Amino acid sequence: MTMNTATPETQPFQAEVAELLHLMVHSVYSETDIFLRELISNASDACDKLHYEAIATPDLIADGASPEIRIVPDKKARTLAVVDSGIGMEKQELIDNLGTIARSGTKSFVARLAEARDGANLIGQFGVGFYAAFMVAERIVVTSRRAGSDQVWVWSSSGGSGFEIAPADEEAAKRVARGTEIVLHLKQDAEKYLEAYEIERIVRAYSDNIQFPIFLVPEEGEPRQINSASALWQRPKSELSAEDYTQAYRSIAGAFDEPAMTLHYRAEGRQSYAVLLFAPSTKPFDLFDQARKGKVKLYVRRVFIADDAELLPAYLRFIRGVIDSEDLPLNISREMLQNNPQLAQIRKAVTGRLISELENLGEKEPEAFGKIWNAFGAVIKEGIWEDFERREKLLALSRFTTTSGEKRTLKQYVEDIKPNQTDIYYLVGDSIDRLKSNPKLEAANARGVEVLLLTDPVDAFWTATPLDFGGKPLKSLSQGDVDFGLIPVAEDKAEDKKEEPAADEAMTITLVKEALGERVSDVRASQRLTSSASCLVASGEARDRALERLLAQHDKGAGQKPVLEINLKHPLVAAIAETRDAAGDLSFLLLEQAQILDGELPEDPAAFAGRLNRLVLRGLKL
Ligand code: ADP
Ligand code: MG
Repeated sequence: MTMNTATPETQPFQAEVAELLHLMVHSVYSETDIFLRELISNASDACDKLHYEAIATPDLIADGASPEIRIVPDKKARTLAVVDSGIGMEKQELIDNLGTIARSGTKSFVARLAEARDGANLIGQFGVGFYAAFMVAERIVVTSRRAGSDQVWVWSSSGGSGFEIAPADEEAAKRVARGTEIVLHLKQDAEKYLEAYEIERIVRAYSDNIQFPIFLVPEEGEPRQINSASALWQRPKSELSAEDYTQAYRSIAGAFDEPAMTLHYRAEGRQSYAVLLFAPSTKPFDLFDQARKGKVKLYVRRVFIADDAELLPAYLRFIRGVIDSEDLPLNISREMLQNNPQLAQIRKAVTGRLISELENLGEKEPEAFGKIWNAFGAVIKEGIWEDFERREKLLALSRFTTTSGEKRTLKQYVEDIKPNQTDIYYLVGDSIDRLKSNPKLEAANARGVEVLLLTDPVDAFWTATPLDFGGKPLKSLSQGDVDFGLIPVAEDKAEDKKEEPAADEAMTITLVKEALGERVSDVRASQRLTSSASCLVASGEARDRALERLLAQHDKGAGQKPVLEINLKHPLVAAIAETRDAAGDLSFLLLEQAQILDGELPEDPAAFAGRLNRLVLRGLKL
């Protein structure tokens, strides 16, 4: 055969992979166990894929043997092999899959790993897939035969900057009849992974629920199965302990944390299916991936079909778990998954159930719910503008930091609303601290009116739709007119409101308008301010300032001009009509101050500094 004489090709790793491997070799991360979880999960995926492809092409498993996973320690050679009889990889698949990182989420994760001081911990929390094996191996040799192929290829690497790829020799080709054999040449300090009890311990902890049998092939004695491979979601709740669920969560989701919520039930009736879903308690690194892909796995009568079947709306993409249908056809194609009416029904029912479960949790176990909200609230809120049907429920589920505390629901807000208060007020910005010192809050604070402080980027978007809760519209404090006239000023705040001599209203506004010209769309006397001199708001019809800012960052702003509101009781504003020659400088200062308080830069910082200097010097001379 000519196969054996071919020289191996050397190929470089993609830059991100090289960086990841470098990190891994130099990390002091001690919990290296996860490498086995990652390899077993890949092996299980490969068996799943084989099952799925064999539905259309039964020849792929013509031998009738069900796919399985074997773990083979060899103390003399100091190697550990993880072998599967799954789908396998062709030459190009080996090159692409084991030489690059395709998913953008993982790419950005690697970038973060490089920066973070706790990078090593992040590896453990999220796993880095196949490459995790380089934590324990100095050399890895992967031999693979794609199901149905007569070609067998060997990929090998010692980490570093690249890998080699070559055709397998005859002996290896014979050994790998279908699927993939991954041989780890262990580092000296990773020898413990050759011990049967260590292997068993790790498999039980992380991979017990893998659907395919995992055999330990000891150096002496018979191979034995070391996972229980029970489709746990098919078993009655009464037989399962909290520990069982945690293990199932970890092995299904490849996670390390505790689930913050578990939902397990069986639907019977027009359709039968089993549901086992978990809400994690920590954020994954790809939560804000553009693709917004869900990860709930679809099974049909215990056969894995797909893990991207969009079984839940995108704003619930953090949920992990399994839905196993009794009625769907096994040979359902990917295209059919998208418009299958039965699946649409399942999606609707499960989404509804999940949301009421979250509601319950919020009431009965606020602490557990708090974990979910802290990690995923920003995602759930996407549903407020996406899921018209459940908008009310999602608003009710939301927790907000407000001027009177954290984790307030809109229900609580409405219960504590002030006499004559007609709206639910909010302010969108970058950080709670900055929002708290925003002058737009002054009039509300003086009246003890509670204001929602919204700081997630998504907040600028969902608030753009007109919303109400409990009959009260939501209203931005940086948009349109606000009228607090009917709400009394709180007693203890009243003395702060010393009557300053008010400026000549009409005259002052005219002067400021003249000075600022096209820079603003209007200048108005403010209802919002009590102690600050000025603030910028959007006009009633225009987009909220926060959204406008966000869109401008992405060059999508229509450049709608803001309205400058001025506080006629403020001495600086009063000075405008008095000191005519400084009116221009003062007017610009009012605008620029307001920009700075909103976290923006003045358009021309140099001119701003010049103005400030002129005014200060003028003041010193007086
Ligand atoms: P992920 O599993 O999240 O895609 P990994 O780094 O674990 O990322 O694996 C990268 C890819 O390599 C997999 O998506 C798969 O295509 C391929 N792969 C890894 N191990 C195997 C295997 N045992 N059999 C077939 N393909 C595999
Ligand atoms: Mg993987």
